[in-house]
Amino acid sequence: MSRQRKPTIREVQSDIMDMRQYLTQFTKAVSMDIHRINVILFSYLKEVGKAEEIMCESCNQEILLPIIEGIERETHCPSCEQPLYKNQTTLDDYAEESE
Ligand SMILES: [Zn+2]
Repeated sequence: MSRQRKPTIREVQSDIMDMRQYLTQFTKAVSMDIHRINVILFSYLKEVGKAEEIMCESCNQEILLPIIEGIERETHCPSCEQPLYKNQTTLDDYAEESE
């Protein structure tokens, strides 16, 4: 086993700072890429009529829902996680009305 000098606290701290800086840059780059792909994808889906724009009743945010076969329709807002169609008549309401 080689007798390596133990790194000083200062050296370890410097390494951690470097690593943190690298991770921050990496994360930022990845999230910018994902955002860009998201924008392109949803703009395209909207253009070809495969996405529906709706407004969340809870947080008033505009949400683009993809309308693609095989992909389940979102029922909850991706932003605030509240149900998207809370004021919509459900089958239960329907049954009550007809009684
Ligand atoms: Zn919402």
